[in-house]
Amino acid sequence: MIATTKQSLMKEVEQVQPAAESWTPQQALSWAFDTFGKDVAIASAFGVEGMVLIDLASKLTPKFRLFSIDTDFLFPETYALMEKVDQRYGIQIEKVYSKLSPAEQEKEYGPALWSHNPDQCCYLRKVEPQKRKIAELNAWVAAIRRDQTSNRASAKRVEWDTKFDIVKINPMVDWTSNQVWQYVRDHDVPYNVLHDRNYPSIGCTHCTRAVQPGEDPRSGRWANFGKTECGLHLKDAQEPLVQLPPPIKYGDI
Ligand code: SF4
Repeated sequence: MIATTKQSLMKEVEQVQPAAESWTPQQALSWAFDTFGKDVAIASAFGVEGMVLIDLASKLTPKFRLFSIDTDFLFPETYALMEKVDQRYGIQIEKVYSKLSPAEQEKEYGPALWSHNPDQCCYLRKVEPQKRKIAELNAWVAAIRRDQTSNRASAKRVEWDTKFDIVKINPMVDWTSNQVWQYVRDHDVPYNVLHDRNYPSIGCTHCTRAVQPGEDPRSGRWANFGKTECGLHLKDAQEPLVQLPPPIKYGDI
């Protein structure tokens, strides 16, 4: 275990970052578990990459922390997969929720916030809950890949997360989609059945649709907006909503 001031954590990242670029996902996970112990957790929305990461982690240690932001708007198939994860890997998923229930959000911000201000909705239901969870940790692990979006293209395997002020480990950052699916087949990893129905990227029901052949795999997310990220993996400088506007009081309009 290492000393855990912000400066010491940043120094640790600086020291391991060059070598980490050639690590395998297993090496990155082992380093994370050995270095941070209970103060590191995998974050997952149970996409196929996340399922591979959970499977890889389970082969290294039977006990690791896994948290998930439950927006209250997930697909029934995603909730079913969470139960499968629980059964197959014996992990208690740490679920994190927005401070506002869907009904409270509607009362504060008006109906269907996702349809006119998805950045604000994602902030309330994903980014703020993630900030709260991450305050418990020194490091978090994500299953992002560089070729998923332009924002992810410069991600390192081990990096300092300027948004959450914490160490971030991206074990599968250089994997391709083909490598991910090959691993799923080779290891019989459970996955969200929506992937077989043309949903390559799965988020909330309100903001995810199936994609057509030839479309970008993430084009089914926030399809009517220029948005490609919920904000969890954006650095502060890339954040579209740096400051939340005050809530619109629905009764006032
Ligand atoms: S993905 Fe859509 S519904 Fe889910 S939190 Fe973001 S804007 Fe809201």
